[in-house]
Amino acid sequence: MRLKGTPVSSGIAIGRAHLISFEEIPIPSYEIADGDVDNEVARFNRALNFVVEELESVKETARISVSDESLAIFDVHIAILRDPVLKRNTIAKIIKERKNAEAAFASSVRMVLDILENSPDPYFRERVIDIKDLAAKVQMKMVGGHKKEDLNIPDPILVSSQLSPSQTGPFRQFVKAFVTEHGGKTSHTAILARSLEIPAVVGVSGTVESVEQGDEIIVDGIEGIVLIKPTLAEKEEYLEKIKAYKKKREALIFELQKPSRTVDGHQIKLMCNIDLEEELEKGTAMGAEGIGLYRSEFLYLKCAPSLPSEEEHYNIYKKIAESSYPYKATIRTLDLGGEKYFQKHLAPAEANPVLGLRALRFSLKHYDIFKTQLRGILRASTKKNIQIMFPMVTTLEDLLAAKAVLREAQDSLKRENIPYDEKIKVGIMIEVPICALNAEAFAHNVDFFSIGTNDLIQYLMAIDRNNEGVANYYDPYHPAFLRLLLSVASTAKRHKIPISICGEAASDPDLIPLFIGLGIDEFSMTPQSIPDVKAKVVSLSYKECRKIALEATKVWSGDEVKRILKSNGKTRPGVFLGMRWKKREKIDG
Ligand code: PEP
Ligand code: MG
Repeated sequence: MRLKGTPVSSGIAIGRAHLISFEEIPIPSYEIADGDVDNEVARFNRALNFVVEELESVKETARISVSDESLAIFDVHIAILRDPVLKRNTIAKIIKERKNAEAAFASSVRMVLDILENSPDPYFRERVIDIKDLAAKVQMKMVGGHKKEDLNIPDPILVSSQLSPSQTGPFRQFVKAFVTEHGGKTSHTAILARSLEIPAVVGVSGTVESVEQGDEIIVDGIEGIVLIKPTLAEKEEYLEKIKAYKKKREALIFELQKPSRTVDGHQIKLMCNIDLEEELEKGTAMGAEGIGLYRSEFLYLKCAPSLPSEEEHYNIYKKIAESSYPYKATIRTLDLGGEKYFQKHLAPAEANPVLGLRALRFSLKHYDIFKTQLRGILRASTKKNIQIMFPMVTTLEDLLAAKAVLREAQDSLKRENIPYDEKIKVGIMIEVPICALNAEAFAHNVDFFSIGTNDLIQYLMAIDRNNEGVANYYDPYHPAFLRLLLSVASTAKRHKIPISICGEAASDPDLIPLFIGLGIDEFSMTPQSIPDVKAKVVSLSYKECRKIALEATKVWSGDEVKRILKSNGKTRPGVFLGMRWKKREKIDG
């Protein structure tokens, strides 16, 4: 069976389906040997105690910033985990049924859920979500330390309706690919797949229904195709494709030795986005000239449900600064998004988290969390190559408030005689339309701009970037978007501040001529995208890019921009627009 979806991470993988449902993490299930019983019971107890202790410590940290009502939720959660029946049942299943700890716990939780789901009392029914969430944490703790064999499926390909970064985390070293029914090109699962350099296809409707656990599947992350139970001929065809893909990558990597400039000598800086620590080496190997975006939320996810300590912040940022040296390392402060479950511990659930207390807005409401992160960044800045970036800046007031917290962090370090870079550069993500429209005001107050196309397009088009049902509106070719970029880039040029693009659009070679032509000379992307983009850059003429980009800003639709690109700017927009173009000239006077 052949299904089609959106390709979001390149490459081809052949493996076996490992089906997981949303909000569940993949749970290994196997029979344990008699001699392993004590060990399994101890493993379960350790995981359970760990999560209880973490909740207690998060509760203490949260005490400063959340209401008493929210604090009481922690007590309910701790009581659920301490429930003697849940514990007794799990241990009994390990001992009597010889189940591994994860499977025993999953089946005990299922029994509790069955009772609650059928309860006539709404209070008990509402606890279902809490229990699923808590159970996932205990499972994560147990599963985290697992080895590949425990998945019981060779070359596992995770198949789910949707995946969250926390679900994929524990298995990320050995999963071969992701397939999801939902999600878009810029969802964090897609970003994570690209970071891990594994193929991924999202928005494949009907997969979960059509696939059985352990079925052989082929995931083609180039064309967006998923083949379930492929025939021998199909498998052979794809083995050939894998060979050809590897050869093409090797040739592109050879291109990396060339300097990053256009044929007419216009210098372009290619940097990398880092989500996971493991990617640092890849960035260097791909010749990145620095880190244009470190998404620090992945550190928070790793430490969840605890918060990273100042020391944990410091250690990772120091590593990043060293790995990127002498180039810049841009550390973005916390950006909690709707997909990231960790948020639930610290803030009440929101109906529209993407339009809610996200990113800098969240940090400004959680002074201690924000200041701890800023102190960690500052302490790691002694090599003088770190710069700080604030995400989702909306108003100038928010920026000034963030800079005030930064000053307080600096003053506190000074008082303690702890060294940091006193001239540390501070920049913002331009990813909210109002911020882009008000770029002039921000240019007076920051050292650099970085355009987050994922969110900027999401908010411009009023589309949820994770909703495949509206993915067709995600249009980085749209001339209104390009006009906005031109205006922001011109403001940055006038103020002589660097401007880059760090959204996923920066890794699309087809868009690069437009962006260069609009006046953007710096791009940051997942390390594995650098070879493709570099190959494009060295084939371009800056003069031509400028001409094409300016023409593209004069039309009305993304399709027209694509036609301009295709004709290499040789066709005048008026030719395709016919009457509409004439009419517009009339309107424009
Ligand atoms: C963006 O919005 O383009 C961006 C780079 O940030 P994130 O994808 O982490 O929201
Ligand atoms: Mg963003």
